[in-house]
Amino acid sequence: MTPYISASLRRLVVDRAQGKCEYCLIQQNFSIYSHEIDHVVAVKHGGKTVADNLVLSCLSCNRYQGSDLTSIDPMNGEITPLFNPRSQSWTDHLKLEDGYIVGLTAIGRTTIFLLKLNDLTRVQIRQALIMQKLYP
Ligand SMILES: [Zn+2]
Repeated sequence: MTPYISASLRRLVVDRAQGKCEYCLIQQNFSIYSHEIDHVVAVKHGGKTVADNLVLSCLSCNRYQGSDLTSIDPMNGEITPLFNPRSQSWTDHLKLEDGYIVGLTAIGRTTIFLLKLNDLTRVQIRQALIMQKLYP
């Protein structure tokens, strides 16, 4: 069950992320469904409902991540942590290339794999937004 998140804490998370999913960088305005407040470390793993453990996530990223903290790096098959927007920099692990998100590290590759960041539809939406200068 998702714990209660106060309106002020929600506002802080949305403002800090400037309305963008902190994994795929899509703006709330261009998502069909509302972005969600996500626990980086899920409550079931002992994660707290505090600003330092919360991120803004689009529905797709949040559903694919679920409560996972790790997955398998598709390059070498090793168990690898997922990208943590609170303690890591997006550009240290990921970069954009023609609407695709490219992994620069094992963490980046693993996050792309688990969150299906390069599913065709998601890439096509990003490419359309890029053409209109609305992404990232
Ligand atoms: Zn996302």
